[in-house]
Amino acid sequence: MGHKTLQMPSGPRIAPEPVGKSARAHGLSPTRARRRAKLLLVVGLWLLEAAMVATPQSAERHTLPEGDPPQLLPMRCGLELPPVHPPFSVSSELPPGTRSWECIPSVIRSDGVASFRVEVDVNGTVNGVTMDQITELLVPPGPAPVTLRDDGLGEDRVADDSVFTCGPFTYKTAIPLPPFYQNDASSPAGLYTTRVGFVRIQEMDATVTQFLLAPEVGLLRPDIAAAGTATLSPEVMTSDHCINVRSSARHTQRTLRFLGGNLAALTGAIYQLLPDAFDILVFFSNDKIERLPRNDSSNFVAGLHQQVLTNFTGTGQSPFDASGSYGSTGSLLGINLLDAWGRGVVSNNVTHEIVHQWSAWIDVALGLTDGSPHYSAFSSVGSLVGGFVWSDHGVGTFLRHCDEGRNGAHHAPPLDLYLMGLVAAGDVAPQHVSSGGPPLDCNEVISNYSTVTIAEIQNRHGLRTPGPATALRDFRLGFVVESHDRLLDPTEMTFYEILAAHTTRSVPPADLDPYLGFNWAPLTRFFGPGVSWRSDVPTPTDTSRLPPGSIAFNHPNPFRTETTIRFELAPSGSSGAAVQVEIYDVSGRLVRTLLDMPLAAGPHAVIWDARDDRRRLVPAGVYFYRLNTGRSVTTQRLLRLR
Ligand SMILES: [Zn+2]
Repeated sequence: MGHKTLQMPSGPRIAPEPVGKSARAHGLSPTRARRRAKLLLVVGLWLLEAAMVATPQSAERHTLPEGDPPQLLPMRCGLELPPVHPPFSVSSELPPGTRSWECIPSVIRSDGVASFRVEVDVNGTVNGVTMDQITELLVPPGPAPVTLRDDGLGEDRVADDSVFTCGPFTYKTAIPLPPFYQNDASSPAGLYTTRVGFVRIQEMDATVTQFLLAPEVGLLRPDIAAAGTATLSPEVMTSDHCINVRSSARHTQRTLRFLGGNLAALTGAIYQLLPDAFDILVFFSNDKIERLPRNDSSNFVAGLHQQVLTNFTGTGQSPFDASGSYGSTGSLLGINLLDAWGRGVVSNNVTHEIVHQWSAWIDVALGLTDGSPHYSAFSSVGSLVGGFVWSDHGVGTFLRHCDEGRNGAHHAPPLDLYLMGLVAAGDVAPQHVSSGGPPLDCNEVISNYSTVTIAEIQNRHGLRTPGPATALRDFRLGFVVESHDRLLDPTEMTFYEILAAHTTRSVPPADLDPYLGFNWAPLTRFFGPGVSWRSDVPTPTDTSRLPPGSIAFNHPNPFRTETTIRFELAPSGSSGAAVQVEIYDVSGRLVRTLLDMPLAAGPHAVIWDARDDRRRLVPAGVYFYRLNTGRSVTTQRLLRLR
């Protein structure tokens, strides 16, 4: 991985397109559009994806019985177009009308010794909080119902802060840890998750409420070796395949619940330290926010795709480039957010959100998509973003297969591969849409349908460009875990490292193609031969070149009015030579000399007030600071917001 240099980004730059125009160009009718503090216009495209489970159901009709496996609840997918304007600051407080839970730590070793506590932030005044139906896999702190406390005693950290706590919970070693998640051997061995128990909140009006999704905790087999980690800054820690970003604002969960998260704050922290070398970022967090009441539609959002860069045509999307808003100079294609645990961090959901980068944006008038944009459940596309595979049933009839499509699949269908630019149009057979109307059951014989050909898609949107000869087929995923007010502990980091590495692990040739469902299977075979996926974290931009004991970072980044650049000079790196700190713009032009003098060993800080050498405010955008200690040179990216 090359080091950052002060060069112009290469490749054509495409002007951003206004979001509203872009949304109309997709033929979509956004059901909800919101303004965020007049800075951010986001089009949220909402759909209850009834086809996610084999039995069609809706959030409204679902009775929310206790004990449902999380994946049997209706799963929704959110889609957002990038912000027109740079992002904004986000309060660390929970928004009104929301509550949260977190297991701390979110993963324990299943050795009977390691423990965690459950923290429930009721975000207001309640009569009390209890937990019952504790899973058989855990030893609770006492007999059920377990009382959560907010008196500052026991495991509760602060009295009367609306954060109710119970613990410690340990693993019940009398029960062997199941060898694989979901008993699926395509998941990594020795990793598991379980629901802890049901939280019951006694409200002031004497009613009792719950979360839609009860707290879950990860379990790691005791003999699995700890992953190596590197702490790059107070906010960022990495392992070989996973990045941990600490924040105070729960950006991932806020964005999933449409509460105004600021993803650029997370990507900014990453790009400050790591090269601009990711095509796709996947974020999840180990805490959870829900809106009240618990059947609020946003609580069903299991994943969200945010398009960042569309550098291809022929898919129904309009070209645009918002990568600069996130600190990337044209590498980052999209950001995908996953909800916590069993209905978020699962193979079909991860891959579903990734596929949205290219798929299901074609004109809804063609009949294949439902406007959300996902493929119609009545289509034969058989994609993780909609439809189910139909097999030939003779004499112009078909049989519908629910096990290959929206719920899970072994392969991306030809239409998705074409929209990704991986196969030619001639490889895509005509698609069909049932005209019989609902209900449509698994294995139902379909004799009434309409047909859509790839030629019709091309007539509407043009040829997918670039095509198979030059389209991207080496995909670099960045897995990012956001943690709340702390960095992850070694057990958590090991668990997430294994999950992230496993997702892009190559499948042995003799093995069958994995099924991407509610499991943790590798996606490396899903898009066919000639496509590669990797999730290794690139070498930090420049800290590797610093002498031992030296590190530099700035905060905040992104920033508006000023940012503080901190660095430490090792004794060997301060031999009397002048130390320079300079600011460059993206074209490599020197904007400002902040410092040029000899300095003693030890910590130092210098503030940049976003002004050039003539004291003029610089435009918003990407800058670099260059630290020259006389022994080493460090450059780091800065992002100034309007
Ligand atoms: Zn979706």
